[in-house]
Amino acid sequence: MKEPLLSELSSPGRSGYGLPELDVPRESLDALIPPSCQRQDLPLPELSEMDVVRHFVRLSQKNASIDTGMVPLGSCTMKYNPKVNEDVSRFLGFSWIHPLQPEKTVQGALRLIYDLDRLLCAITGMEFFTLQPAAGAHGELTGMLMAKAYFDHRGEKRARVLVPDSSHGTNPATANMCGFQVTEVPSCLKGGVDLDALNAALGPDVAALMLTNPNTLGLFDERILKIAQSVHKSGALLYYDGANLNANLGLVRPGDLGFDIIHLNLHKTFSTPHGGGGPGAGPVGVKRELAPFLPSPIVCRRNSNGKKDEYFLDFGRPMSIGRVKAFWGNFLVLVRAYAYIRMHGGRGLQRIAEGAVLNANYVMNALKPYYDLPYDRTCQHEFVLSARRQKKKGVRALDIAKRLLDYGFHAPTVYFPLIVEEALMIEPTETESKATLDAFIEAMIAIAREAEENPDLVLHAPHATPVGRLDEVAAARKPNLHW
Ligand SMILES: *Cc1c(COP(=O)(O)O)cnc(C)c1O
Repeated sequence: MKEPLLSELSSPGRSGYGLPELDVPRESLDALIPPSCQRQDLPLPELSEMDVVRHFVRLSQKNASIDTGMVPLGSCTMKYNPKVNEDVSRFLGFSWIHPLQPEKTVQGALRLIYDLDRLLCAITGMEFFTLQPAAGAHGELTGMLMAKAYFDHRGEKRARVLVPDSSHGTNPATANMCGFQVTEVPSCLKGGVDLDALNAALGPDVAALMLTNPNTLGLFDERILKIAQSVHKSGALLYYDGANLNANLGLVRPGDLGFDIIHLNLHKTFSTPHGGGGPGAGPVGVKRELAPFLPSPIVCRRNSNGKKDEYFLDFGRPMSIGRVKAFWGNFLVLVRAYAYIRMHGGRGLQRIAEGAVLNANYVMNALKPYYDLPYDRTCQHEFVLSARRQKKKGVRALDIAKRLLDYGFHAPTVYFPLIVEEALMIEPTETESKATLDAFIEAMIAIAREAEENPDLVLHAPHATPVGRLDEVAAARKPNLHW
């Protein structure tokens, strides 16, 4: 199973490509680069193309991936990413353009950004978007900087931001980075925001409530209109963490629910491969009052006397918070999302949401007899089990997650949200077939049985993976890349 490093595989003289005989005059390197600046020893491995291909394919097979199996990581929306998105993002007109090309020569790319902005507005009920942010957390930062600029402009001093105790960790982190103090709002017994606690926490010093709906328990907060009313009555803004829009597509729009600022994760809902650290895209949408603060530039369209539409970059935005990303964002991620949205169309997007909700409820109900379900309600795109029953036998959420790897499934999200003891957060997504969901359910039931009858088996899992239990802190801080 041990895969050598490329330098260990190297064999002197081997190469991937042969070059033809030189057919131009030979130039001395010394004439181009002074010898003192030339690198004398560059110990690059020497390998054939096949050596390289086999090395990387073997390495890729050591990992769980969406191309090899279901990844039920809650809050991450690890759906299958259709390969047509990849084809479209590789069109030469998209992949070979330079961000400094004159506007006239990249009209198609600018149009795609403009059209995607319009599509996202239609899907979310917002009025304007910026497509610059590179990820969800980056979108949150952009959105909250805009909230800050909005209140600064109005001369209002609002120093606090509210987040529910079920919130994604990036929400309080973002508020904190923007210089706000964070106040946590408890959840009610049904898993939504506790309205009384919210009203008590609101005041003239609160800038915003950051909310996810459905929240990280996978539950839709039915009192969202009341929440929006309370927040707006106190003069604060309602921020929507729309990282996971899977359950809402075509069914409900955050803009209609009263949200003022939202971010989306194109790399979750709109299907760009993720999990390996990027690139992603976290567009931010706003209502009209916040539009002047959007990052600069934005793509606009003009049509002079019935001529062909012309797209251009509008830099003349005096109240803008400025750029948040070099050039125009992670453009090829935008291309993938555009292809995905156009391929599905309105009704198709709605079916995605219906499938995501149906799949999650199917798995939740099948597992309910075997694991504790602290919030036992119809869920949206995900649900959260608790392993507290198994914990009595010494088996914890982490052990169950590890044991799932032996059954060929990626682990679910564990120990999040924080308000559920021994949390197992499961998001099947709409792309898994009933057969795969059934296999996952069987594996989870088998593990629940093992926890009863043979806890040691679970406690020492995984048994069938290239590596067993790693010291995860050491693995992150001092990665051993030479195992
Ligand atoms: C994934 C996620 C984020 C963060 O998105 P990144 O692209 O990883 O920065 C924020 N909020 C929620 C609810 C998420 O699921």
